[in-house]
Formats: sequence, structure tokens, C-alpha cells
Amino acid sequence: MYTVEEIFEAMEKGELQAYYQPQYDAMTCGITSAEALVRWVKPDGKVISPAMFIPEAEKSDAITAIDWYMLECACRMLKKQEEDGRQFPVAVNFSRRHIGEEGFIERLSKTVDGYGLDHSLIEVEITESAMVDDMDSILEWISDVHNAGFIVAIDDFGSGLSSLQFVKEMPADILKIDKSLLSENCENEKERIVLESIFYFANRLNMTTIAEGVETKEQLSFMRTCDCKKIQGYYFARPMNESDYLQLCREYICVDNTADILEIQAPTSALNLLMKVVFRRYPLVIFSNLTRNSFYMMTYKEFTSTGCPSTGVFDELIEHGTLSMHPDDREAFSTTFNRLNLLSAHENGVKEVRLITKQLGDDGVYRRVETTDYFVKSPSSEDVLVITLCDNLPED
Ligand code: C2E
Ligand code: MG
Ligand code: MG
Repeated sequence: MYTVEEIFEAMEKGELQAYYQPQYDAMTCGITSAEALVRWVKPDGKVISPAMFIPEAEKSDAITAIDWYMLECACRMLKKQEEDGRQFPVAVNFSRRHIGEEGFIERLSKTVDGYGLDHSLIEVEITESAMVDDMDSILEWISDVHNAGFIVAIDDFGSGLSSLQFVKEMPADILKIDKSLLSENCENEKERIVLESIFYFANRLNMTTIAEGVETKEQLSFMRTCDCKKIQGYYFARPMNESDYLQLCREYICVDNTADILEIQAPTSALNLLMKVVFRRYPLVIFSNLTRNSFYMMTYKEFTSTGCPSTGVFDELIEHGTLSMHPDDREAFSTTFNRLNLLSAHENGVKEVRLITKQLGDDGVYRRVETTDYFVKSPSSEDVLVITLCDNLPED
């Protein structure tokens, strides 16, 4: 560990340097941005990790001095990048000590303006662990940064105890998912569920998601299935010094663009695919609320649907369905699927009701159809729900 005096001395001598770790688009695998990370480069070339001096600096205002210093480094780098014709935003870490810092926004704007840079080129990263402090002042601080045109990123999300309520209220643009949430292969079911849920809610809140600490192909694949937007991790690149970073951006090589079957497994698209298969097997799926006498029909091609609305009164649906049955089957159909009969079957502990009938299709041809009603519990009420799956059977 180093003392605060030694850290200040290093800063004065220019031994503290900004390293840059590129962030990549999860799908195209091209560079999108970078995070500036402090390194202490000793005269002999030895590079000291921030873990060796940031914790000490955090105990005093030395940390705020480091952050301002890093902002200057990032601005100077961006100025150089301007000449290359293409600039990528840079994230700078700001300690929680800046929350409530007198004149913070003015100094931030003045510094960036001093280099003639657009505010949107600077991302202000604040760690999730800062969120345990006074909520109102953090909200105000984040709003001010955001309203001044800077991008706000919540760092290390998932490593602490910040509440979802808080994330919901913050006008932050980016959510950085902490590497502690990712295991080597992302193969643990509970871990996957937790990650899927985090990405789902962040995406729904229109926040850009960045996964930190992605080291393996498996992690990358899984991140893609979660609709994670950006990746920062050793799998793509480690933090590097300024000139290496500028060179990398100039070359702008997409690192890995191999199509991956898992890409389409984002929860929503996975569900859509699953429904396609369900429809292939069951050309007609109906959701009904027996208690409320209503239904919602998911029709599929080549099944009887003529004249039948896709949503309405359940009793009328059964009447309509009965008419489309072969005359020999009408009695059985209308009795089996009579709403009151179904409700009493449910009361008696029946889990599903099944019947095979001949039904007239839209093309005027009778087909053997197996209709199965599955009773399901409503997640939100005591209503009795039923999911109906209709299966076309081969002719006998
Ligand atoms: P952070 O802001 O969450 O930065 C990400 C850390 O994860 C970096 O560690 C980075 O090198 C590391 N990392 C990135 N990809 C991977 C990976 O695939 N695997 C693993 N194992 N690690 C990966 P670094 O540079 O050692 O920084 C550690 C922490 O020190 C930072 O965490 C940040 O909290 C703090 N820090 C660094 N620079 C500054 C600064 O200028 N100001 C402030 N306030 N804090 C800083
Ligand atoms: Mg960070
Ligand atoms: Mg982090």
C-alpha cells in the first residue's frame, strides 16, 4: 500500500497514467467506447494496479484529485483521436466522494469544454456502492450530470445492495453488470435466471447494458442471449496504454463476428421460437378464463377459424366450436367443454380434459382433432384458467 503523499507525488511526476480498456458491441464485436483505468507506471516501467493505491486514496480527497486528473487524460486522448477522424466515448470513474462536491458540474463541463469536446463523449461512472448514501443527493447529482449532456453509467451493478427502485428512478444511461455475477461458463441455472432478469429489466428501462469481466466464449454467448449490448472484458481486450488504444481504434478490427446459434436465444426471441414449435404441433392455442367466461385465441394457418372471433365469450366459443364438429361428435363436444362442467371438473381435482372429434376445417374437409384443456392457476387471482391445445391427428 502507498501513502497519500506518495500518490500525489506520483501524479505530479506524471507517473499516474490512464489505461484504456475497449468496450465492444456484443453483436458486431466492433469497438464502441472505452473505460479509462488508472495505472501507476514506475520509472522502471513496472505497472502498479489501482488495487494497490485506490483504497488508500478513497480514504481522503486524494481520490477526487485522481479522478479529475484522469478526466484530463481522457480529454487529451480524445483530442488526439479527433485527428484520426473517429472518436469513441470514454468512461471515467468518479468516486462517491464527488457526490455533493461543490461546483462538480461546473468543473466537469468546464474541463470538457476546455478541450472543445462534446459532452456525450464522456461517460461518468459512479459505482453502485455509492447508492447506499443519501438517495436524494445521489439522484440530484446523477440528474445534474445527465442533464448537462454527459452519459451516466452505474458501475459494478449487482456487487452490492442497491435497490431496483433506485435504478428505476435514476436517469442513468448505462448499467454495467458486475463481473462477480458471471461464473466461468455461465452454466448455473440460477445464475442464468438472475442475469436474464437483470438484462431484461435494464433493457426495458432503455438502459444500455455492459457486461464487465467477460473472459470466455461461453460467457460472451450467454451475454448475447441476454440481449446484453456491450462487452468489456479480457476476452476482447485488456486495459492498454494510450498509444496502443489509439492504434487499436485506428485499425478498428471487429474481433469476433462469427454467427452464433445462441444469438437468437434472447428470452423474447427464444419464446417466439418456442411458440413457433408449439404452433407446429398445436395449430390452435386458446387461453380462457372460465370464471369470467372469456377467451383469447391464438390461431394458426390451416385450422378452423372461419367466422370465429379471436377473443370473446367462452360459452359462445363452445357453441361455435360445436357447430364446426361432425354431427356425431357435437353432443360429446358441447358436454365435455361446457363451461360449468369444466369448472366442476376442476373443483374435483381434474388436471386436464381431452376429447377426440372430427372437425370441419376452413377448407371444407373434416379432420380428426384432439382437443386438450389444461387447467392452470392464475398468478394474480383465484380465477380458473384453461389453456386449450388442439392437435391435428392423422386420419385413421
Ligand atoms: P471498475 O471501474 O469496475 O473497472 C473494471 C475493472 O475490471 C478493471 O480493473 C479492469 O481491468 C477489470 N477487468 C476488466 N475486464 C476484466 C476481465 O475480463 N477479467 C477480470 N478479472 N477483470 C477485468 P482495474 O483496472 O484493476 O480497476 C479496479 C478498480 O479500481 C476499478 O473497477 C475502479 O473501481 C477503480 N479505479 C480504477 N481507476 C480509477 C479511477 O480513475 N478513479 C476511481 N475512482 N476509481 C478507479
Ligand atoms: Mg468502472
Ligand atoms: Mg466495474
